Amino acid sequence: MFKKILIANRGEIAVRVIKTCRRMGIATVQVFSDADAGSLAVEMADEAVHIGPAPAAQSYLLADRIVEAVRATGAEAVHPGYGFLSENAAFARRLRDEGIAFIGPNPEAIDAMGDKISSKKLAAAAGVSTVPGHMDLIETPDEAVRIANQIGYPIMIKASAGGGGKGIRVAHSDADMAEGFAAVKAEALNAFGDDRVFLEKFIVDPRHIEIQVLGDKHGNVVHLFERECSIQRRNQKVVEEAPSPLLDAATRMAMGAQAVALARAVNYDSAGTVEFVAGQDKSFYFLEMNTRLQVEHPVTELITGVDLVEQMIRSAWGEKLAFEQQDLAINGWAIESRIYAEDPYRGFLPSIGRLIRYEQPEEGDQDGYVVRNDSGVREGDEISMFYDPMIAKLCAWAPTRDAAIDGMGRALEDTHIRGLGHNIPFLAAVMDQKRFRSGKLSTRYIQDEFPDGFHGLAPDRRRTDVMIAAAVAMNEILSEQAGDPSDRVDWVVLIDGQAHGVALGYDEDEALTLDLVDEGRELRLSDIDWRPGLAQFRAVLDDVAFTAEVARAPDGFTVRSGPARARVRVLSPRIADLYARLPEKQAADTSRLITSPMPGLVVSIAVAVGQQVRAGETVAIIEAMKMQNILKAERDGTVKAVSAKAGDPVAADDVLVEFG
Ligand code: ADP
Ligand code: ADP
Ligand code: MG
Repeated sequence: MFKKILIANRGEIAVRVIKTCRRMGIATVQVFSDADAGSLAVEMADEAVHIGPAPAAQSYLLADRIVEAVRATGAEAVHPGYGFLSENAAFARRLRDEGIAFIGPNPEAIDAMGDKISSKKLAAAAGVSTVPGHMDLIETPDEAVRIANQIGYPIMIKASAGGGGKGIRVAHSDADMAEGFAAVKAEALNAFGDDRVFLEKFIVDPRHIEIQVLGDKHGNVVHLFERECSIQRRNQKVVEEAPSPLLDAATRMAMGAQAVALARAVNYDSAGTVEFVAGQDKSFYFLEMNTRLQVEHPVTELITGVDLVEQMIRSAWGEKLAFEQQDLAINGWAIESRIYAEDPYRGFLPSIGRLIRYEQPEEGDQDGYVVRNDSGVREGDEISMFYDPMIAKLCAWAPTRDAAIDGMGRALEDTHIRGLGHNIPFLAAVMDQKRFRSGKLSTRYIQDEFPDGFHGLAPDRRRTDVMIAAAVAMNEILSEQAGDPSDRVDWVVLIDGQAHGVALGYDEDEALTLDLVDEGRELRLSDIDWRPGLAQFRAVLDDVAFTAEVARAPDGFTVRSGPARARVRVLSPRIADLYARLPEKQAADTSRLITSPMPGLVVSIAVAVGQQVRAGETVAIIEAMKMQNILKAERDGTVKAVSAKAGDPVAADDVLVEFG
């Protein structure tokens, strides 16, 4: 077996690969850029080699630097992770020429699957069902429109070299097609240096289902069943699971057989993924093959017990697969949530910064579920603008899908992040939704369920109970600590202005009892784990454990329970009565101000003082995480002041333009 492996990647996937290497007794070399000098992966690896400045084009994407690092450390093999050089056939070929093992498929297989046009042709030849469309190159918008009319709208316009959800557009009409074709061509040239574009039928309301395959260098190929990745935002996966709630055994076997046939057709000899779109009627069509370890591979590992990184290493070394198809079976259900540094309340804008607090859920066997948390960062680390803004991949496994969803809900509650925006409340909302639980998924799910963006969910009954109980208990603890234990029994809890009368007591086991007097129900709160200063309130409410995120606020607290957050006030009935008579304070009118939604650089300011601006007109452009964000006027008005100019760095909430 290899004695030393170099990891040509960073972040969570580097940490993931190091863990398996350690278990196998293989030494590791971690390459790093300036931005990653103090990273967890660098700390965990046996050796580390600096390869350049932060931008990937000057470090992680430089094959020369990687090869130099291999030479300098005597590593025998390179694991490329995902992204970066992982699907670069020239890199794999170069390593082979230099006598270094590439822990991935052979370069010919990468080439064959490297672009969507040739891989689709190959798939069709191998008997794999493909999306109907036009597989030859299209040069002009006119030609695109003519072919589109033969296929019939809606149509997906795709860059052959596309990846990561980029270079994809849907056209519903000739006008869409003419415009979209030119746009995708330009985007593809810019992002991938390859402007080949093709057309295929757009499958309406589809699901994304993919098959994990695994091959060796002796002609053996198996599949490890499917993952469903239909919860996507802008064609990028957010929540994944295995198995898929759509498939029956027969469809699963048919998809698996096609994926294996395709892998065999290209002599596939490592871990890879064959992606399909599936109709709600279980029809399925090949999309593309990813010739690398997939981001969401942990859910497959959780239901099969196979370590895919270990299998990649063994196959790169030349070992035969130690199992056959019939040895593999699905055990239970696994879900993955991608935790991103993005602000769900602000249209999911990137929200980079330092992890001031980062509490991760306990991994391993919990009460009724298993937690796995793949993360590449620690408390105090920075999520920088240079790379993917993923903080962690949180997985929950359980014997059934329902229990896995419950487990994920708990694991999300047990993840606590401060210092930057994160999508945990959004992920919690998905876990809470009846539609998600019913398994009626589609790639339109997020659009359908959150048509106006995400604004949190209103607390349901259980979360309302959690808020009441946590706030009353914290209030008791605080007054006790202040040496002023109130013996008041009657309280009114205001949740976002809504009053709930509570009569407080203790039962024989010293648990807090809360009689909801208006509803005639009693809550029982025990095992309270909180003291002043803690941001997480843990306890057991009516025999079910929960964690809420809490902060003190005037007359009470702010409490977030999963996707719901609210101002919670704990008042005596007399004060509550006064509150009820007070007019609600009007929120400040912020529509006069255009503020930067995130830290970034001002690209341009499109208006000047005195200028008349109509609602919807572009006011400023901010660049962050290599993305340009266009800020538009929310209403008509005259520009009163401009407080930034092109090139200025700005912080979140900095005012850029003020209207009169
Ligand atoms: P997965 O199905 O594993 O989530 P993605 O397509 O989302 O795969 O890509 C995984 C990673 O690889 C992401 O970080 C993505 O940005 C990157 N990636 C994928 N394809 C490309 C490409 N052609 N060019 C640049 N980055 C890519
Ligand atoms: P990428 O290389 O960016 O991952 P894919 O070809 O895998 O590109 O497509 C990304 C996503 O776009 C899929 O997961 C699916 O949601 C959607 N998609 C792709 N092709 C189609 C299609 N023909 N019809 C409907 N949706 C599609
Ligand atoms: Mg894809």
